[in-house]
Formats: sequence, structure tokens, C-alpha cells
Amino acid sequence: KSNYTENLLIDSHHWSHRVALECTLTKKATTYGRLRDQVARWGGYLRKLGLGKGDVVAIVGPNVNETSPVVLGAGAIGVVMAAINPTYTPAEIADQLSDSNAKLVVAFSPLEPVIRAALTICKVDIPIVGMGVPADTGIPMVSDIFDDDRIPFADAIDVSGSDPLSILYSSGTTGKPKGVVISHEAASINLAMLLHPSTLFPGLLDREGPQNNFLMLLPMFHVGGLFGVHAISIHKGVRLVNYAKFDPKSFLRVLEDYQISVLHLVPSLLNFLVSSPQCDAKVLQYVKSILCGSAPMSNSGLTKLKEKVGRPIMFQQAYGMTETMFVTMDPINEEKVGWCGKLMPGVQAKVVDVSDPSKNLPPNIDGELIIKTKSQMSGYLNNAEATAQAIDADGWLHTGDVGHYDQEGYFKIVDRTKDLIKVKGFQVSPSEIEEVLLQVPGIQDVSVTGVPHDRLGEAPRAYIVAKAPPSKKSIEEFLSSRLSENKQLVGGIVFVDALPRNSTGKVVKKQLQQMKPRGD
Ligand code: ATP
Ligand code: MG
Repeated sequence: KSNYTENLLIDSHHWSHRVALECTLTKKATTYGRLRDQVARWGGYLRKLGLGKGDVVAIVGPNVNETSPVVLGAGAIGVVMAAINPTYTPAEIADQLSDSNAKLVVAFSPLEPVIRAALTICKVDIPIVGMGVPADTGIPMVSDIFDDDRIPFADAIDVSGSDPLSILYSSGTTGKPKGVVISHEAASINLAMLLHPSTLFPGLLDREGPQNNFLMLLPMFHVGGLFGVHAISIHKGVRLVNYAKFDPKSFLRVLEDYQISVLHLVPSLLNFLVSSPQCDAKVLQYVKSILCGSAPMSNSGLTKLKEKVGRPIMFQQAYGMTETMFVTMDPINEEKVGWCGKLMPGVQAKVVDVSDPSKNLPPNIDGELIIKTKSQMSGYLNNAEATAQAIDADGWLHTGDVGHYDQEGYFKIVDRTKDLIKVKGFQVSPSEIEEVLLQVPGIQDVSVTGVPHDRLGEAPRAYIVAKAPPSKKSIEEFLSSRLSENKQLVGGIVFVDALPRNSTGKVVKKQLQQMKPRGD
């Protein structure tokens, strides 16, 4: 089928009675049968508003039960869904509302004032529909629309593969978030790649087996949430538990109460599970599989987590980006923690010289990863220049990620090209320094970035989180006995309370230099 929504729901009539969605906020549940109706009704509602193929609807909110049918109902009738991070400021939201040219905003009701402020900023007058919890301002609610029999169901329409399905904004780790246009075809191909027998654990999602419980912890406005967890879950008839807002206490409770069996994490959350004394074998008793991606991850975390669990769990790592969706997946090889697995079916990749992309590099040498995949974006929204920079004339997407692969075809991401530090003109890898610093006793978290330096051009500076900080001198000595001159912390050492991370767990390096040193 050409329509992504149809592809996703294609088997759902086999399990209409099963729970599709559950909301930790409202405690409400939606069956697959209801979900199909809601998708059709939402499509009918958008039509009634006069929206159709190519029109854009924005969604701004945490993970709640309405998100899925709102996204899928739009896709069914060719309306494009722009997903916006609900933690953004009115100005940031305004930017994306006008960039995407949205005709309607579906927002978490408590965010209504924020959306109104955003609409004032971008001078756009479009309706708001609320979701999640009742609004007291009288805006229409998605849940009422779902129940309104006067609105006819809309059938899914045929689309051509290249018709846009959604606009997702990149995480903004290296600059202003870019709107990434994803077509029905790219999303459907990504789904097929994820469902390929070589991708996920064999038998993990058996149709006949007991129903699995996924936690929708990754945000739905992010590629890993929407086109990863959500896609696999809905297609496979999983019970998807929508978790609206992370906080340490409720997170652990949700894992146990909702008997979460398959957990999709980012490394910072995996580290949280490891370090939290409240997280024990009982909390994790239902977890049988963990998938981790979106940022580099260290080796020791998984070992410690396994010790906590005390029984075998399946572990997979993945790499991807908004522009490509999923690219690599770890085929059950736990020896290679910190690697991101092998290429998924249909993906081609090369590692090329950072300063000369025409030069291919052999295994085990770091360079920029470039990719070709049918799950690739159509382009950046309203930014032909950035698109031309990212996708070259031969269709290769330049990821901006630095890494290497080994003889077995495993890939490892170590840095971003933008983060490489130019010391006396030599490229220095911040992650190489970070890795050594993490071995210093007492250092819990670290990020290294380049700062301007009179003599060297740029010099590495470390931002360090440590409960009982070791002396700067001992850190310098540790480093100088292990790494060469260019990799020393000539730019200084700054102790901070925590590193600035974005919603997908990545350190936002451009914010480091504004960080306040910890006061002690
Ligand atoms: P922006 O493009 O706006 O600066 P971003 O690149 O962080 O932000 P995303 O598309 O959400 O936005 O993230 C993709 C990036 O995440 C990849 O380019 C890569 O740097 C990083 N990444 C994803 N998975 C992994 C992984 N398994 N290991 C290391 N890095 C990863
Ligand atoms: Mg990026």
C-alpha cells in the first residue's frame, strides 16, 4: 500500500479487542478497534474543516492517547503532520508554526496559553484543538471529536510515494532545528526495515505470543518515537503505554505497574536506571528487551544494568537521524556495546575523509559517515540550501557524524564533524578525551568542547560533573599520561552540576560555554 497509515494498521483487525494505547496521565485505554475508528473520524473532521492533501496540521504535546490517532488520521487523508516539541518557548513554537505553514494546531490543553502566545508572535490566526486533559476555555477537544457520530469516517486515500507524510524537526543539537520532510514512502520503507527478520530480536513480537507492553517514553515529535517505537508497536499489536512527562519516581513506578516488557531508551536514561538505588530487579522484573539509541553510549552502563536485573535480557543498539530514520541496528551482539550495529536492510553507507568527501576510508579509520537509504527524507523544509549541502549530486546523505566501521560491518559513531576541535590545525576528537576522562575516579559525566585559543587556534575544554570533584591537577596528570599534547585540556576544566541535554538525551555543546561553574 502507498498510504503509511494503512500500512501501519493493516493487521490491526486481527486484534481489535486488544489494548492499543494506554495513558499514564489519564489512565484511559484505547483498543485497536477504537483506534481505527478514531483515525477515520479524525480524518473526517479535518476534511470537514476543509483540510486535505498537502495541508499541514501541527501537533504540540507530550505523549498522550490522542497523539497516535491524530497523526495517523491526518496521514490517512494526505494531511501532513508537523510535530513540535512541547517544551519549546512560544517564540520557538512560533518559528515552527510559521515554517510549517500549519492550518490547525492540536495542543496539549494546558499549553493553550503558550500556543496563543506563539500564534501572536508569528501573527497567524488558526484554530486550536485540545488534547490530553479537559480544557476550561471552551476549545474543541480531540476526544469529543472522536465521539461525534455526526462526523463521517474518512477512508484512507491513495497517495504517491513521494507525497509528504510529516515534518519532524531535528533535535537542534548542533544549530537551529531543521524541518525534515518525510514522505509516505520513506516512512513505509522504514517500517519494513524495522520489521525485517534481521532487525529486531526473532520472536520478540510474535503475533501469537502474549501481548507486549512498550513504553512510549521517547517523544512522539522525534523520529525515534514516532517512526520507531510507535510504528513497530501499532503495526505489531503491542500495548503502547503513553508516558507524558519523565520524572524519576513515576518512571520506575510505570515500568512496574504497566509491566513494561520492551523498553526503548536513550543512554542518559539507561545510566539513570543504573545509578538509581530505587531501580532494582523488582522494578525491572517485566523487562525482557532494551533498545538504546540516539546518542553515544558507554560500555559499563549495560554491564551494571544486567547485574541489577539478574537474568538475561535482550539488548539492541540503533543509530539513526531525523533525516534518514533508522540506519543501523545491533543484531544481538552484546560484546559490542557502544557500537550501533550493522546496516539495516537496504541501507548503503561509506566513511569518507572529513576534509575530502571524495576519499573513501577503509575499516577502523574515523571519517564522516555518508548514507544512502530509501527511508531518506525528501529534503529540509523551506531550506534548499541546507538540503543541497546534506544530499550530494549522487544522492548520498552527509550525516555530519564522525565514525568508523570494522571488518564485521559494525558501525561506531564517535563525534560530530561540527564538534571536532582544530588544535594547531589538527582535528582532535572530543569523544576520545571524554572517554579517558570518564576513567578518572569520581568523574560521572563529561563533555569536551573547543574554545578559541590565541596560540593553538582552538583548545579543548572539559565540562565535568563530579559529586566529589578530583583536583584539576590530578585530572591533567591522568590525561597527560594517556593522550598526546594536542589532546590536553589547555582550554581549561570547568566543574558543573549537570550537562545541558536535549529531549533525546544529547549534550547540547553550544550551551556548554554559557554554563555556570558549580559553586564550591
Ligand atoms: P540537529 O541536527 O538539529 O543538530 P540532531 O542531529 O541531534 O540535531 P537528530 O536527528 O534527532 O537531531 O539526531 C541524529 C543524531 O543523533 C545523529 O546524527 C547522531 O549524531 C546522533 N545519534 C543517533 N544515534 C546514535 C548512536 N547510536 N550513537 C551515537 N550517536 C547517535
Ligand atoms: Mg542532525
